[in-house]
Amino acid sequence: MKEIILIKDGELALKGLNRSTFEDALIKNMRERIAPLGGFSFRKAQSVIVVEPETEEIDLDEAVSRIQKVFGIVGISRCAVCEKDIDKIRETAYTYLRDELLFAKTFKVTAKRADKSFPYKSPEICDEVGGWLLSKIRGLKVDVHEPDVTVTVEVRDDSAYIHGAQLKGAGGMPTGTSGRACLLISGGIDSPVAGYMMAKRGVKLTAVHFASPPYTSELAEMKVHELLGRVSMYSGRVNLFTVPFTEIQEAIRDNCPEEMFTVTMRRVMMKLASRIAVWQGCDALITGESLGQVASQTIHALKCTDECAALPVFRPCIGMDKNEIIEISRKIDTFDISIRPYEDCCTVFTPRHPRTRPTPEYAREIEAMLPEEDAMLQRAYDGAKLLVIEAFAS
Ligand code: ATP
Ligand code: MG
Repeated sequence: MKEIILIKDGELALKGLNRSTFEDALIKNMRERIAPLGGFSFRKAQSVIVVEPETEEIDLDEAVSRIQKVFGIVGISRCAVCEKDIDKIRETAYTYLRDELLFAKTFKVTAKRADKSFPYKSPEICDEVGGWLLSKIRGLKVDVHEPDVTVTVEVRDDSAYIHGAQLKGAGGMPTGTSGRACLLISGGIDSPVAGYMMAKRGVKLTAVHFASPPYTSELAEMKVHELLGRVSMYSGRVNLFTVPFTEIQEAIRDNCPEEMFTVTMRRVMMKLASRIAVWQGCDALITGESLGQVASQTIHALKCTDECAALPVFRPCIGMDKNEIIEISRKIDTFDISIRPYEDCCTVFTPRHPRTRPTPEYAREIEAMLPEEDAMLQRAYDGAKLLVIEAFAS
């Protein structure tokens, strides 16, 4: 039986004349994700997008599961396609949805007739198909209010489509329609969630990770690669720049008062990330900071780090409780990776008593204690290494 995937796009409906641009971005993103599974064609048709596999051997379960992670989609229905003939429609509905209906007590049929030349009107299609299913499956009853299964018949220009339950899409806007931003990613719980949240709003991600070997291990870097791999299932390809940070951290340790270690480190991170971001054509930075979570994330500390950023800083977790962030990290499958106990550069040289109310003036004064800061930053920048992360690469 021929099957297709029917995509209902989301907020796109709000975009008026831009709709087509948004749909094109959505199609491009879907294509990228499922092309490695085989050939597909994509067609825009009356407020939906039809995704059609070119051969029957293609793994549609996997295609659907990948499409469920593409932003900009509200609903996904896997449909059987048949000729626009009422007998064929009845029979296809039965064979295609039999397994689902055998486990149901109640059902209803809804019909949409986009092709007005089809001789049966929507209520008549419902009667025909509903009557046929009742005659075939013993014990099944109609419940128009809360059915266990809703059978949908859509008579469109080319064919009739028949489907059962609609799956939920990932929501949001197609990645790439809101520009590009640079995610500062650690191996922790918050920053991968922050990246996911901004990708959901249509932002294409570039990422920067600061590594301090030998204080941080290769395993900590692998962890970041894995985390971004999970994020890229939603966001698509991410270019990750790993920046050598050891020299800077040692310089901070040797020259600055301990209570200001973390804030100074954050300021330098913002400067370096800004440079990479601008170089890579990003228009914002993203961090996983959450207000008050730790000493370096008080409103005072954030004021000190913010002034070092050359671009707007998006902090989607800023108003969230840790539990709420964890809930999302479980949903996107990053939690179990994040909690692996490898040192991050933030956990080496952690001050025992960090200053929680630093002022920007004081932070600048402390940072000025770093010898030859510009040259040191330049070395770190020059040492950045690129790795392309893409979960579903072909
Ligand atoms: P996370 O769970 O994201 O690590 P956190 O609660 O541990 O966050 P911090 O360690 O204080 O918080 O880091 C705050 C933010 O700074 C992180 O969310 C991330 O955006 C950035 N950051 C921290 N460490 C690094 C790093 N090694 N490389 C890149 N960015 C980092
Ligand atoms: Mg951290």
